[in-house]
Amino acid sequence: MIYADYAATTPVSERVYDVMCRTMRDVFGNPSSAHSFGCSAAEVVERARCQTAKLLGCDTDEVYFTSGGTESDNHAVRFAENRRIAVSAIEHPAVLESARHMAGAVEYIDVLRDGRASIDSLNRILHDFPDTAMVSLMYANNETGVIQPVREAAAAAHSAGALFHCDAVQGVGHVMPTVRELDCDLLSVSGHKLYAPKGIGLLYIRKEVAKKAPAFHYGGGQENGLRSGTVPTPLIAALGEACAEALDVMRDEDCRIGKLRDEIERELLKIPDSVRIGSGERVSGTSCLAFGGTTGESLMLLCDLRGVALSAGSACHTGIDTPSHVLSAMDVPEKYRSSAIRISIGRNTTHDDALQIIKTVSECVSLAREG
Ligand code: PLP
Repeated sequence: MIYADYAATTPVSERVYDVMCRTMRDVFGNPSSAHSFGCSAAEVVERARCQTAKLLGCDTDEVYFTSGGTESDNHAVRFAENRRIAVSAIEHPAVLESARHMAGAVEYIDVLRDGRASIDSLNRILHDFPDTAMVSLMYANNETGVIQPVREAAAAAHSAGALFHCDAVQGVGHVMPTVRELDCDLLSVSGHKLYAPKGIGLLYIRKEVAKKAPAFHYGGGQENGLRSGTVPTPLIAALGEACAEALDVMRDEDCRIGKLRDEIERELLKIPDSVRIGSGERVSGTSCLAFGGTTGESLMLLCDLRGVALSAGSACHTGIDTPSHVLSAMDVPEKYRSSAIRISIGRNTTHDDALQIIKTVSECVSLAREG
């Protein structure tokens, strides 16, 4: 079976697995305890904080460990609680739904046909609504892989006096600018998208912004008083190791994976009535393709039966039978919206896997069209 759904989740790497298991077995103390067991655990947590801060390009006291991308996004949006927020129409539901539930008003930044949020649209919003408290724009879209104009959005937000949040769940682990270069106030990361386990992530909060930060929850005052609760040492160690490993391998891997992705696209786009959705700069492994006369759902099921696991859109939407809000916002024609699949490859994908993906998807498109 070939796994081609890395944008949904990644396997835990060997290096991360080893560190996590060793920590779970050997470093069981509570990092808040003052005795030697506690100190050993606290050291592990601080080492991981250094590793994550190094990858993001921030200070260690700007890293707040969370349970994953959804919690980080929810908490970031709380900075705009009961106030106006501007979000792109292609954000993940973790941002869209928290904005809908927590903000006082939500403005939606238009998206262009290439899959990038429109900075003109953002500027219009900021001009028309000078009370906008926060702008949120993702680094890379989870369905198309398209990299967003984050620096421009941050500059626009800041010149209008708004905070800027970036959901970088699909970006971190790939070569990308640091949080300082992006000029974010808040940035969300999820461990299971970068070869660490599920249940761990982080929220970067710029130091000056953290002073006015709402608490995640209340209790014993862990995570600088903002996120109480005994921290999960093995998961944090795993995230730290995943960040260190990303720094070691991401340059080469992005290059290798990007070439494989391009080869897959080149071959599959030879199929008549096929299109690629999203253009311009994209994260290396993600490809959104559509094949007229099929449905994404049937292609996904056929490919699964033939040994290739890919996605009919975003896995987070599986089970919800509504068209993708991302493809709708991009104004993708209906026949391609319903026939889109996402192939997302990663570190364990070989050239042979890529050839098998091409063969299987081609066969399944023919089968879906016949059936
Ligand atoms: N943001 C983006 C862009 C995502 O792709 C995802 C997960 O698919 C999330 C947020 C949610 O992250 P998590 O699964 O860690 O809660």
